[in-house]
Amino acid sequence: AEAGGDLLVAQGVLMQFGGLKAINNVDLRVRRGTIHGLIGPNGSGKSTMMNVLTGIYVPTAGSIDFAGNPVVGRTSSDIALSGIARTFQNVQLFGEMTALQNVQVGLHHTFASNILDVSLHTPRYKREEKAAIDRGMGLLHFVGLGDLATEEARNLPYGKQRLLEIARALALDPQLLLLDEPAAGLTAPDIKELITIIRKIRDHGITVILIEHHMDVVMSICDSVSVLDFGQKIAEGKPAEVQADEKVVEAYLGG
Ligand code: ADP
Ligand code: MG
Repeated sequence: AEAGGDLLVAQGVLMQFGGLKAINNVDLRVRRGTIHGLIGPNGSGKSTMMNVLTGIYVPTAGSIDFAGNPVVGRTSSDIALSGIARTFQNVQLFGEMTALQNVQVGLHHTFASNILDVSLHTPRYKREEKAAIDRGMGLLHFVGLGDLATEEARNLPYGKQRLLEIARALALDPQLLLLDEPAAGLTAPDIKELITIIRKIRDHGITVILIEHHMDVVMSICDSVSVLDFGQKIAEGKPAEVQADEKVVEAYLGG
């Protein structure tokens, strides 16, 4: 698709767990270069949608097209390599590894070295190792963690851990970044910093799908928003339109 066209098109997605339709016939279109919000009360299916988009779950029905290619049926690592990166609702870092090492985990796909190169420290391995350090440091600087590269992840304040997860996801060099409640548990200053970084990511041409509870975050950075309730899409549009929608207000009050 050309710039400004749809990067992701999901149609009729159904995700059933036993008798529960966690996602019930949802269509989703995300335009290239935008920040698309995915909101809804607790249990409305937001994380499930993200798991379907990244191949963690295979939908019961429906199709998903990413950059012109089908997603359903491919493994999650294949989908990740094709350009969809994500963070999780709960922090998933390697606590005893440094910040830089955590980002480098996300860079391994770029390595050509085999086990012999690594054990013999061949020039190829040394070259790649240096490139991985440079690129990892670049990503840490991008999210404001340049000074904390050698800290163990578990010793970083919570807000910094969330930023580190974003840096690791960016190491995949994705076209699409999915963020599952990145502001959860953050302080107000941390949230401000996060907003700046998400905008910067979008300005680098990476499309973002943002699941977020904080309405002010959604309102201030999303170009468009889809609202889920009990697995169904009940509203969609610009943030201000969606916020004023009666069905949305009701879903939040009722939930
Ligand atoms: P949200 O992220 O919007 O809070 P979820 O997508 O996590 O909601 O969950 C949507 C619904 O699907 C919930 O009722 C949840 O209990 C259910 N659900 C999610 N994953 C599973 C699973 N693996 N097995 C069974 N039920 C699940
Ligand atoms: Mg969730």
